Amino acid sequence: MKNFSYARAESQESALSLLSQSSNAKFLGGGTNLIDLMRENIEQPDAIVDITRLPLTAIEGLPNGGLRIGALVRNSHLAAHALVRERYPVLAQAILMGASAQLRNMATTGGNLMQRTRCYYFYDSAAHCNKRLPGSGCDAIDGFNRMHAILGTSPHCIATHPSDMCVAMAALDAVVQVGGSDGPRSIPLIDFHRLPGETPDLDTNLKPDELITAVDLPPLPFARTSIYRKVRDRASYAFALVSAAAALEIEDGLTKDVRLALGGVAHKPWRAFQAEQFLVGKAADERTFARAAELELEAAKPFRHNAFKIELAKRTIVSVLVETSSKGVA
Ligand code: SF4
Repeated sequence: MKNFSYARAESQESALSLLSQSSNAKFLGGGTNLIDLMRENIEQPDAIVDITRLPLTAIEGLPNGGLRIGALVRNSHLAAHALVRERYPVLAQAILMGASAQLRNMATTGGNLMQRTRCYYFYDSAAHCNKRLPGSGCDAIDGFNRMHAILGTSPHCIATHPSDMCVAMAALDAVVQVGGSDGPRSIPLIDFHRLPGETPDLDTNLKPDELITAVDLPPLPFARTSIYRKVRDRASYAFALVSAAAALEIEDGLTKDVRLALGGVAHKPWRAFQAEQFLVGKAADERTFARAAELELEAAKPFRHNAFKIELAKRTIVSVLVETSSKGVA
């Protein structure tokens, strides 16, 4: 591991000031991904700014009925919080299906947003990887790509985003709050992460001088019956082959409103807008759900080892919508 300086920030202002003193500094929250990457020399920061003492650990109700989650709220605390379990069960379920209990006890909300892909070639410094070294190529495209993306890929990267939490947040219309030298701003979660395009080295639209301070969940009454479904190789401690987060409002047998997002299929949490648009106003039944899944996956592009994900994603969508509809009947 390369030598680096360490400083502990006592306030948001000092965190940003310390960050600005190095061109290659990183914030340290739970450290569950960053430290691994530093050990492997994938991340080589000159400076670490420890933000774990900042007062960003609260979960509090918002005046509009939503919820504000501090950036340093631990994943385990978030999943166990009564208001999350009651109003946004999809989020609690998604978090509990990610990582291990020990990792969830350390990992933070902000860190979960910032975690990097688990593409094996990204972690192998002998491999060609445009995300690790721009312009070097992508060994996954013609390599072993079973875990890789089928939607929103580019000729430069086909990695997937590893988070479960972010898939649920994408479905819930979460908004990321950030602070920076130009002041605070809000970024819808679905715009926070990027598709790879020509710059797969950039995972997010966070500016280099910005700090995540919170994630807001807007009020969404029908999310009380929301569900997260994760399909993976092992029953625990495995990343998603495909996952789906769904909330459904049904009235008189018709879908009145719906939120649907997919994980394990793209470089970012994939909000299934095409499926959502198709579903609204139609019968909330399995046949309609299947047609919506077909539409959403029409643009999917398989690679040598991951064509199975297309059918798996369709079946996961149908399965989660059928289960949600059985709970969400008004
Ligand atoms: Fe790197 Fe992306 Fe290719 Fe994986 S898929 S090797 S992360 S460029």
